[in-house]
Amino acid sequence: MLSVGTVVLADEESGEVSQTVMTGKHALQQTSLTPRRNYKQKEGCMKIRNHRIQGIMQTETPNQSGSLDPRYLVFHFTAGKSAESSIDWLCNPQAGASAHLVIGRDGSITQLAPFSVKTWHAGVSHWEGLTGLNSYSIGIEMDNAGRLTKVGSTYRAWFQSEFSDDEVLLAKHKFEQDLSYWHVYTEVQIAKALEVALLLVRTYRLKDIVGHEDIAPGRKNDPGPAFPLQNIHAKVFGRSGDESETYEVIADSLNIRKGPCIEYEPVSSPLLHGTRVVLLEGRDRWSKVDVTGPNDIEGWVYNKFLKLVEE
Ligand SMILES: [Zn+2]
Repeated sequence: MLSVGTVVLADEESGEVSQTVMTGKHALQQTSLTPRRNYKQKEGCMKIRNHRIQGIMQTETPNQSGSLDPRYLVFHFTAGKSAESSIDWLCNPQAGASAHLVIGRDGSITQLAPFSVKTWHAGVSHWEGLTGLNSYSIGIEMDNAGRLTKVGSTYRAWFQSEFSDDEVLLAKHKFEQDLSYWHVYTEVQIAKALEVALLLVRTYRLKDIVGHEDIAPGRKNDPGPAFPLQNIHAKVFGRSGDESETYEVIADSLNIRKGPCIEYEPVSSPLLHGTRVVLLEGRDRWSKVDVTGPNDIEGWVYNKFLKLVEE
């Protein structure tokens, strides 16, 4: 429990739903690791023709069935070693799993099936009264190792690869109670995810963007807390997109930290009631903000103590 003056900040992380979350669906053995040649991707505005994005790597997974009239976009992490190994696996009939797109850590995008056919990424799932979301959604797999285990000074994936500090985020999954280590996504990968989300939502008039964890809670934990799903959602469906959002601190005093959980150290003294901040990156419970004013302070604050300033 942290206290600042007379104000107790113990609520920073209260109110979560407690659920058991199993490891990711794709935490299965990966098959061949044959390197694929680098595919030169076109810069600029992406276009869809015949339900395929033009100018990206195209392949065809056999793991598909029937026609699709998509209403939602579902993000996943691969929990795999590399985009290549995940693409190979998702194109392997033995996998019994697939997705429409895989986005690599270098921002490369590979399409495994046209958006007019069902792929097998959602499994047992529910959303807005519908079940079996494969029949209603486009699936995107993000190359990411998923949850990591700290071993000495490194962080280990289920497939034994090790990662260093700067590739790891310590955060609490929105459906879990304890902190975990999660493999971070790269900036270019997130930028591509946003670009593709905008394109797909506009082209197919999709109603929502969700995580696998949202449509299969308790069974799935991807894309996890390292993925800025809320931010992408806000940018795609937000009022006008690029406008910066200003918030006001409504607690008497609010800690501003180096990362999105209470284990991270504060970056400055607590923000006082009425302090205005600009949203840089929104997560489900924490937001990265820039403190307006003479001091150049940037850090993470708990969402519950922020109120949107209507201007
Ligand atoms: Zn998934």
